[in-house]
Amino acid sequence: MSRPEQVTVLGATGSIGLSTLDVIARHPERYQAFALSGFTRLAELLALCVRHRPRFAVVPDELAARGLQADLRAAGLSTEVLLGEEGLCQVASHPEVDAVMAAIVGAAGLRPTLAAVEKGKKILLANKEALVMTGALFMQAVRKSGSVLLPIDSEHNAIFQCLPGDFARGLGAVGVRRILLTASGGPFRQTPLAELEHVTPEQACAHPNWSMGRKISVDSASMMNKGLELIEACWLFDARPDQVEVVIHPQSVIHSLVDYVDGSVLAQLGNPDMRTPISNALAWPERIDSGVAPLDLFAVARLDFQAPDEQRFPCLRLARAAAEAGGSAPAMLNAANEVAVAAFLERRIRYPEIASIIEDVLSREAVVAVDELDAVFAADAKARALTEQWLSRNGR
Ligand code: NAD
Ligand code: MG
Repeated sequence: MSRPEQVTVLGATGSIGLSTLDVIARHPERYQAFALSGFTRLAELLALCVRHRPRFAVVPDELAARGLQADLRAAGLSTEVLLGEEGLCQVASHPEVDAVMAAIVGAAGLRPTLAAVEKGKKILLANKEALVMTGALFMQAVRKSGSVLLPIDSEHNAIFQCLPGDFARGLGAVGVRRILLTASGGPFRQTPLAELEHVTPEQACAHPNWSMGRKISVDSASMMNKGLELIEACWLFDARPDQVEVVIHPQSVIHSLVDYVDGSVLAQLGNPDMRTPISNALAWPERIDSGVAPLDLFAVARLDFQAPDEQRFPCLRLARAAAEAGGSAPAMLNAANEVAVAAFLERRIRYPEIASIIEDVLSREAVVAVDELDAVFAADAKARALTEQWLSRNGR
């Protein structure tokens, strides 16, 4: 067999990064970690380097780089340490890299992911915020470079698996009526509305079915995650927002469905474990062992569905409105959400204020067209500044 595929894992110390490395380690003949990046948990990054022996490791700054480089030498490794956004872009676009797992959380993942797209790499896209911010530009860059873009988000990976290979001709052309995006409803699906004022970051991060990073856990509780996924689905599958319906399915066994005009509905099922979509995307169009236990339908016993309640989940309404408005609206929604979620995690605001802040920020700025990256970053910066202003105006 030829050399193993060289995989850069951006965000290797995170939840998706670790699951990716778990799958890679199961198939050393097929995959080799080429570069790993970490932002805070640098002891963990060192341990990952010892285990996977990458060519490069990327850390945020000079101090971290010096420390990690010394530790790597002491461990007898020749891994070279790079730093900052430039280092991330370098390992994402390196000529020897075949595939890039984009698993940095938030807007910080955008430039390195685009750098990989521009060089035509196979993109394993977990970093949904990148696509939400720059949808049109991102998809244009994918088409221009001929990059293969494979969704890692479990819902989008499910939809990808339920669509025929030629869906690029358009959903209508292949007979799709709707995409049904499933959502667990998160930890607050049944919490009395009056109690939401008092929920803590710990409660918001205690997801009933999935183990994930803190930001996406809060997004799942508020269902902003589903809103971002709605926007993500529109770009990935060339769908209009009104073709994507959100369905609450508390068991998280069906990861999403595609409804065809002949009445057929195709679904992808599995245990809620991100190693399934990661393996699917890594090996596509083949199938490999992911380490995920087989689905036991007798243990699952039942599958429930309900419509989302927009009073409980105002973020879903805000995201749908941003999807429909287009232009700078999704980037602003995403940026305001990132700042508001960070403030909630730092206990500076109450949980329901996440949605109120985003709504306030979006109402203060007219939507503009974003036909170049600078316009996206300007919208992102504007929304961050407006969110900070809300926080200081309200004494947080
Ligand atoms: P996480 O918080 O566990 O990990 C985030 C990673 O990004 C870490 O490696 C961290 O070091 C790095 N990072 C954070 N800030 C950074 C910055 N400013 N610059 C560079 N690196 C930075 O998050 P996660 O749960 O692994 O999620 C990663 C991405 O995947 C997110 O975009 C999330 O929406 C998406 N996603 C996650 C899941 C899941 O099950 N965890 C599912 C679907 C999609
Ligand atoms: Mg998801």
